Amino acid sequence: MNLIRKLFGWKPKEKTIKKDDSVEINVEAEFNRTISILKGFKRTAYLPETKENSNSFSSKSKIGGFPYLRHENDWPTCPNCKKNMQLFLQLNLSELPEKSEEGLIQLFYCTNSQPLCESDLEAYFPFSKSVNCRKVVIENESAEIQPDINEIFDEKIIVDWNPVDDYPHFEEYSDLGIDLDLEDEVYEMMEEKKKGLPIIKDKLFGWPYWVQSVEYPFDRNTNRQMELLFQLDSEDHLPYMFGDCGIGYFTQSPDNKGELAFGWACS
Ligand SMILES: [Zn+2]
Repeated sequence: MNLIRKLFGWKPKEKTIKKDDSVEINVEAEFNRTISILKGFKRTAYLPETKENSNSFSSKSKIGGFPYLRHENDWPTCPNCKKNMQLFLQLNLSELPEKSEEGLIQLFYCTNSQPLCESDLEAYFPFSKSVNCRKVVIENESAEIQPDINEIFDEKIIVDWNPVDDYPHFEEYSDLGIDLDLEDEVYEMMEEKKKGLPIIKDKLFGWPYWVQSVEYPFDRNTNRQMELLFQLDSEDHLPYMFGDCGIGYFTQSPDNKGELAFGWACS
C-alpha cells in the first residue's frame, strides 16, 4: 500500500489552470512558492492511535463500543427505527492534546439497514434526526444497559494522539483568500513530499478533506461557520463505509461548543 496515497488520497478531479506548453514551469520553485503561501494556514491535526478493548461503559476517548451514560435512558434512540444508535465516537475533552475542557463529546449514528435510516432521514446532511451529536458532563459512574441494536461495533480506545501538519483542501482556497492554482506536477510533488495537503484519514482538528465541495455547516443560532472537530474516513478505525468510500465531518461551532453537527460526502 502506498502510504502517501493512503494518507493524502486522490488527485484533484480536474485541473484549474491551463498550462501554456511553451512555458517550462519550474516545478520545484512552484512547489516552494505554494508551500510558503500555505504555511500561514497550517494547522496541527492529531491522528488517533487506538487499542482494541472489550466494550465497556466508560468515559474514555474511543471509536465504537459502548458510550458513557448518565442514566439508563441516556443511550439515544433513532426516531425512525426506535433502536439505539451506534456510538461512532466519544471524545473525553480533558484528554485531548489541546483546547482542553471538561466533559465528553459523543457522536451517535443509526446504522440500521432495515429500515435504512441513513437514507430515510438523510444522515449525510448535518442535523439529521438519525444522528445524535452531544456534549455531556461526566457525573458519576456510567449507567450500564442492554442496548437494543442489531450489531455493536468493537470498541477501540484512543490511547494516543500523533500530531501532524495539516493544510486546507484546494476547494477551500478561494474562501480563504489563497490565490493559487495548483498544477498537476506541483500537486504530485506535494503528495510525494507529504506537504501542503489535508490528510484524508481519521483525525482530530485540522482541515477537512473535502470529497465534493466545501460543506461546512452553520451554527443554527449564530449562523457562524462551524469548524472541524473530527474527521471520520470510511473504514479507517470505524468499520463503516459512508456511501462509496466517503468521508464524515464532525464539526463544532466556535461560538457554542454544544452546537455540533455531523455530515458526510462521497464522490
Ligand atoms: Zn434507525
